[in-house]
Amino acid sequence: MHIPHTNFHDVLIAGAGPVGLFLACELRLAGCSVLILEQALDPHTPLKELPFGLRGLSVPTIETFDRRDLLRHIEERAVAHNAPAAAHWMQQTRRPAGHFAGIQFFNDQIDSTQWSHRVQRPVSSVAADMVSIEAVLAERAEVLGVEILRGCGVEDLEQSESGVTVFAGRREFRGQWLVGCDGGRSTVRKMARIGFTGTDPEFTGYSVQVKIAEADLLRPGRNYTPTGMYTFAPPGTIGMVDFDGGAYHRTNPITREHVEAVLRKISGTEVRLAELELATTWTDRAYQATQYKKGRVLLAGDAAHVHSPLGGQGLNLGLGDAMNLGWKLAATIRGHAAVELLDSYHRERHPEGARILDWSRAQVALMRPSPSSRALESIIRDLLKTPDCATYFAGRVWGVASRYDLGDAHPLLGRSAPDFDLIDGTRLHQRLRTGRGVLLDLDASESLKALTACWDGRIQYVASDAKDRLGLSALLIRPDGIVAWASDAAGNKSGATVTASKWFGDPSPTHP
Ligand SMILES: Cc1cc2nc3c(=O)[nH]c(=O)nc-3n(C[C@H](O)[C@H](O)[C@H](O)COP(=O)(O)OP(=O)(O)OC[C@H]3O[C@@H](n4cnc5c(N)ncnc54)[C@H](O)[C@@H]3O)c2cc1C
Repeated sequence: MHIPHTNFHDVLIAGAGPVGLFLACELRLAGCSVLILEQALDPHTPLKELPFGLRGLSVPTIETFDRRDLLRHIEERAVAHNAPAAAHWMQQTRRPAGHFAGIQFFNDQIDSTQWSHRVQRPVSSVAADMVSIEAVLAERAEVLGVEILRGCGVEDLEQSESGVTVFAGRREFRGQWLVGCDGGRSTVRKMARIGFTGTDPEFTGYSVQVKIAEADLLRPGRNYTPTGMYTFAPPGTIGMVDFDGGAYHRTNPITREHVEAVLRKISGTEVRLAELELATTWTDRAYQATQYKKGRVLLAGDAAHVHSPLGGQGLNLGLGDAMNLGWKLAATIRGHAAVELLDSYHRERHPEGARILDWSRAQVALMRPSPSSRALESIIRDLLKTPDCATYFAGRVWGVASRYDLGDAHPLLGRSAPDFDLIDGTRLHQRLRTGRGVLLDLDASESLKALTACWDGRIQYVASDAKDRLGLSALLIRPDGIVAWASDAAGNKSGATVTASKWFGDPSPTHP
């Protein structure tokens, strides 16, 4: 028998992983009531610690965390810098700026002048462990007043015109909306009957920590062999890719004997493993939800898309979903926007997810143990030594090349707003910490000030010149930091009102 829960929340979230936690913070920041239902009693698992819990943060994630004052807390807490052995690339004296299927590129090959206002420091230096990321997000969620119920996994749901009922741990919970942030095997996605389509795996990937009897038989770094690929970070962190069609993943226990056999096959050595300390498997299965919104159910993070961790992009993609969705869902709930605003969530984030899935598929094509893939690898390796090619790959891997299609009226539309150094002593990212939109008026024109008054605090008016204004006069920036409108000419406010109505709802009738 299900016991009804007395509270009715604006939003129920399934899953207190990084995406669920960050989304909850966004919704609370905008004044919505949020309950997270988390299946696991204890969020801690050894796989969230180093070495396997290491996550590289992309530029959009760094910007997102900075815009909500989370970045410095994560950097303070992250133990990544104390663990140089966390990954084989961290042991290199020349730290790579990124990689494609393991082929590395370096900062001195990249022309980052086109993103100079976005890339403030070497991107490869911003990596953090999952324990720290989740702890900082959980602390912020608690401060903001998010309720988290652990040990309460979502089992089923029913939705109507007015809300959603969730069945979890023999209890019932009601909310206006439900967001599934419950990972790749999402129950919410299945129960809402949302399609999940894509390509099946070609390999089983292994991340293992071992004690090796003869470590000198293995070559440190990433190694392609005629039977697969392995990475080795001494003394005992190994990654392997075995092209078995994904057959071993979650089908059999991962034993020392099995890992040793796979490692011998791939490395072509007689290496012996004395002990298997920690092991997990994964695949290159690349699937995506056909709808990110169905009725009153939405999906974000791995619940909406899964792909191989090779490109290190899943967390970044999921946090991007949450940043895009949070303010839109809050505006809908608070009656500031028509429900159609939420349709732009799928419209903007689904293509972004599809691009990342294709990026991971392209890497698999290059990793296959076949002569044609080795030939392709050799060409890409040469190309990545050229500045043009390294710059293109950095744009994709760092996430700086991405842009939502918000029209062509200005080159900045749909892009992340530059973090202007304002002459009033603040940075633009700091002005976004309240989670509201910003009208940045670099010319301090009174007409634009009057315009923002019509949106009753939904848009924050900031009048300040910048140390480098990049030729701009004014910008309207959404709460997720995306430029919705921009003007190069002083006093030109044409289009600003229409754009503000589109993203922030109708202006208040009490204002002119
Ligand atoms: C080895 C490896 C390396 C990776 N490296 C990187 C990297 O460098 N960069 C990067 O961006 N990404 C990386 N990723 C991917 C990244 O970890 C994931 O994309 C990210 O954790 C997804 O976050 P999430 O919150 O969507 O899902 P999860 O982290 O999977 O969280 C889902 C949560 O939902 C809970 N849950 C599940 N079912 C239910 C239910 N029925 N009801 C309630 N709660 C439920 C789970 O317990 C969990 O807490 C890597 C992944 C792996 C495996």
